[in-house]
Amino acid sequence: MSLPDITARIEAACDRAGRSPAEVTLIAVSKVQPPDRVEAVLQAGHRVFGENRVQEAQGKWPDWMARYKGIELHLLGPLQSNKVRPALELFHAIHSVDRPKIARRIADIAQEIGQCPQLFLQVNTGAEAQKAGILPAEADAFIREVRAMDLPVAGLMCIPPVDETPSLHFALLAKIAERNGLAGLSMGMSADFEAAIALGATHVRVGSAIFGERVTA
Ligand SMILES: *Cc1c(COP(=O)(O)O)cnc(C)c1O
Repeated sequence: MSLPDITARIEAACDRAGRSPAEVTLIAVSKVQPPDRVEAVLQAGHRVFGENRVQEAQGKWPDWMARYKGIELHLLGPLQSNKVRPALELFHAIHSVDRPKIARRIADIAQEIGQCPQLFLQVNTGAEAQKAGILPAEADAFIREVRAMDLPVAGLMCIPPVDETPSLHFALLAKIAERNGLAGLSMGMSADFEAAIALGATHVRVGSAIFGERVTA
């Protein structure tokens, strides 16, 4: 478990960027990690975690949430329509809002249950066919549309293409957020969170660098 390492690297990156570490939330991405590794990070006092799948999170987090106070859970992976209700009940933030239809469904259910997580809209900055997210050219309109649904839009999220310089994508995401008056930037993973912090990340999503390599896919 190298949580202290990562925390120190985040502080150093903030220092270099002239930013306060308080501006950057570390989301420990615990998907498919063995429970003892997650438990170690909980025992070290960390409380902000990320998961990719609603069902997997439902299976393991209610128990930890009962035993450790103050846990904040972020959904990072694609959200299906039929999983919106449990997602709204379990998660404090959703980083993968990527189409009007899912935003509409979130709005409807949030209205019904009287609560809604913070939302990040996912932008497919590399315009990759296999990747989720709204295209950069359509982002402004999508942001307007989701805001018009009275949903709490915290910011934007991206996952850069693996074979490109991530900074170009972080800069693009920051530019779209800025011109739309959005403060939140969910960007940066194990390999590139320092570069993301240099470009304004407010939420870094770090999995394997904290927990070790994921054992299964
Ligand atoms: C798995 C995942 C991460 C963490 O990836 P690491 O490379 O292990 O840090 C971050 N964001 C998303 C959306 C992920 O699916």
